[in-house]
Amino acid sequence: MSPSELSCIIAAPEVPRILVEQALETVEAVLQDFVVWLKKLNIPHRSGSECIAVGLFDKKTDYEAYLKQEGLEGLTGSLGATHPVRLISLVLCDPMELNATSPYEVIAHESIHLFALKSGLCPGWDAWPRWLHEGLAMLGDHSAEKRLKMRSNRSKNATRSDLSTSLFATTNHERARDWKKVATSLDIQAFLRRDLTKNPLSNDDDYAASWAITAALSAWQNGSILNSLIQELSNKFMQYDSTNTIEVTAADWLKSEIGEKWPEFIKLAKSLGG
Ligand SMILES: [Zn+2]
Repeated sequence: MSPSELSCIIAAPEVPRILVEQALETVEAVLQDFVVWLKKLNIPHRSGSECIAVGLFDKKTDYEAYLKQEGLEGLTGSLGATHPVRLISLVLCDPMELNATSPYEVIAHESIHLFALKSGLCPGWDAWPRWLHEGLAMLGDHSAEKRLKMRSNRSKNATRSDLSTSLFATTNHERARDWKKVATSLDIQAFLRRDLTKNPLSNDDDYAASWAITAALSAWQNGSILNSLIQELSNKFMQYDSTNTIEVTAADWLKSEIGEKWPEFIKLAKSLGG
């Protein structure tokens, strides 16, 4: 059973039917890609029985009222959110609010966050630094529109092998463009140690750097250090050691694990701006 066969979309009545159908296709396609990639990197996770529930709102007022009611007012102003306790993703599908952003990208992004939590990959939202949550989501969210196109062409052009190729961790061009603007000047080690929730840079810079670092880690030694980091963070989460923040713990662990090749790793991450 694929990770999303039990997935569901809960939509406000005014959300167009086509959007609901394509939302479900998006969740299915993106999570299939995610699982293929996790398997390729040997990253342990459960898959097969997780219901990925995504709520689609058509009105900003309703979306933000729900966030406030749940104590998530810090997420107002966003287009999507994943509830860390109720384990449901929420997406605002108002075209005026989305502007040029694809609702399917937001749906893909949030469903990756949710799958990370429900598959046991991440034992709890606070177990990972924010850059890792966002970086992982951005390895996959950008392929949502492409996947939908491939699926709609299925009977015409796309071959079976097109559909079975994972688009996960292919270049996120939008993030790469943002990254190019800051890559040379940003101190990556300082960024890693920063608590982005309390102390963000700018939204674009935070997302761009989170993407670049995660993309570099997924390529570095075939993702083996990324895999070990995920294990390490799970172990740390179970030990309830609060000497350091999770950001500092992860940053220091990465630096010592990568060791003398650290400058080479930084060079790789910086080179992803394009
Ligand atoms: Zn996110």
